[in-house]
Amino acid sequence: MRPHMTQTLQRFGRCLVAGVVREGVVEDEYFVVGQERFSRDLITPLAPCSPTKIIGIGRNYAAHAKEMNNPLPKEPLLFFKPPSAVIAPGADIVYPPQTKELHFEGELAVVIGARCRNVAKADAAGVIRGYTLCNDLTARDLQRSDDQWARAKGFDTFAPLGPWIVSGIDPSALRLRTFVNGALRQDSPTSDLIFDVPTLIQYVSASFTLEPGDVVTTGTPAGVGPVQPGDVIEVSIDEIGVLRNRVVAGSL
Ligand code: MG
Repeated sequence: MRPHMTQTLQRFGRCLVAGVVREGVVEDEYFVVGQERFSRDLITPLAPCSPTKIIGIGRNYAAHAKEMNNPLPKEPLLFFKPPSAVIAPGADIVYPPQTKELHFEGELAVVIGARCRNVAKADAAGVIRGYTLCNDLTARDLQRSDDQWARAKGFDTFAPLGPWIVSGIDPSALRLRTFVNGALRQDSPTSDLIFDVPTLIQYVSASFTLEPGDVVTTGTPAGVGPVQPGDVIEVSIDEIGVLRNRVVAGSL
């Protein structure tokens, strides 16, 4: 049995407690920092890590590649989202004036726990701190018009992360769902990933040194679509929680 399957599920992250950033674990209805227990209604969750880079994976579910009329990748397709795109659970996603076609993409995300490079598949579990959720917001029109995806994937607020990092779960045995205004839009088992998590860690770490807190997203399933200012997007995996963000009009 793989080592991470023998661990107990644990949820942890970062919150604002009375205006101060605290790291702690989630136990039942409490956020626990050392000997202190805070009721969940007294805390504001923050993004659970501070990545030096977010490495996105494109077209990693066959049904999504098909809906976008893209061929299946022969090896993982990588792109970057800048750390400046990260926002907390509950924070607003700003619809930029440069796009007319903002899409949600609910995704399982891997959070790195140790500085590493050239990680073998069999060793991947040892460099993973846990798993969280990412909404890989994408300006679909700019993705088509720009040769590089830097703008399409990288605007400020285009990387909501959270609400918690969860360890002790099998990343290939989760149900990923995305809701827009309460309506189910994406629903897929993570066992449908074309390239599984150990394969992604091996592939990504063959090119980049990964730092603690770095994030590797795993791709989005079928069902992506446009959102408008006022819409509320919820990305959900039962074992992790719900990443909820509202889209607002305007510029930063
Ligand atoms: Mg994506």
